[in-house]
Formats: sequence, structure tokens, C-alpha cells
Amino acid sequence: MAREFQEEKMNVGEGWWPIVDEMHKDLTRLLGEYELQQIKEKFGGLRYYMQVGSGCNPALMGQVRDIITAGEDKSTETCETCGQEGTNQSIGGWYKTLCPGHAEARKIAVARRMSDRDRPPQPFDPFF
Ligand SMILES: [Zn+2]
Repeated sequence: MAREFQEEKMNVGEGWWPIVDEMHKDLTRLLGEYELQQIKEKFGGLRYYMQVGSGCNPALMGQVRDIITAGEDKSTETCETCGQEGTNQSIGGWYKTLCPGHAEARKIAVARRMSDRDRPPQPFDPFF
């Protein structure tokens, strides 16, 4: 079941939107229509899942892989929140790729959450 690009894009932080926009544009230029399956963040890196039609020229497959690999690699050095240069790091046991400013803000938020033991557990928001 193909997913809407604009909808799947919301699964990752705004800082990565230019990366996925570029990937979608390149894939569409290469393939015309393609079946997008999922866009998500895992271990602080972008994951872009799609499928090409069964009639796809095998020579195109290498280019498709290159586009996806390049975008996923770029995400591991791009702050998911603001799009500035970032590093992949573990904060409170959760991997994220963030710039120094957003990493600091997240450390403070995680520390505050951990010390809030009197409150009932909060649903985890990966984008706070
Ligand atoms: Zn940032």
C-alpha cells in the first residue's frame, strides 16, 4: 500500500525535510511514480523505504540505491530538529542526530524528565 509522501515526511523532524524532499524529487525524476512505504527515524538516522515496480530497469536500481544511501548518510550528520550540522549521539539511551544546541536542550529535558519521579509516566515524545 503506497503512502503519501507529504504524510510520511511528518514522521521525521523538520531538519530532515530538505533531505527527504531532495530524495523524493530525485526518485520521482528517475522513476516517475514509485511506491513509498515508510519514512522514519531509527537510531538517530533516516530510514526511507520504497519499492520500484517489477518492470523497473535493473540499471536504475543502482541509482535508486545511491539516492537512498546518500540521503540516509546525510541524515546522520544533520540535526533532525533544525537542519544544521549535527552528530549522532545517545542521550538518555535514545539515539538522535542533533546539533550542539539541540543536543544540550534535549539533555536538559531528559534529565528533568528523569528526575520527575512523582509524576505519572508521560508518553515519550521523540521531538521535544
Ligand atoms: Zn539543531
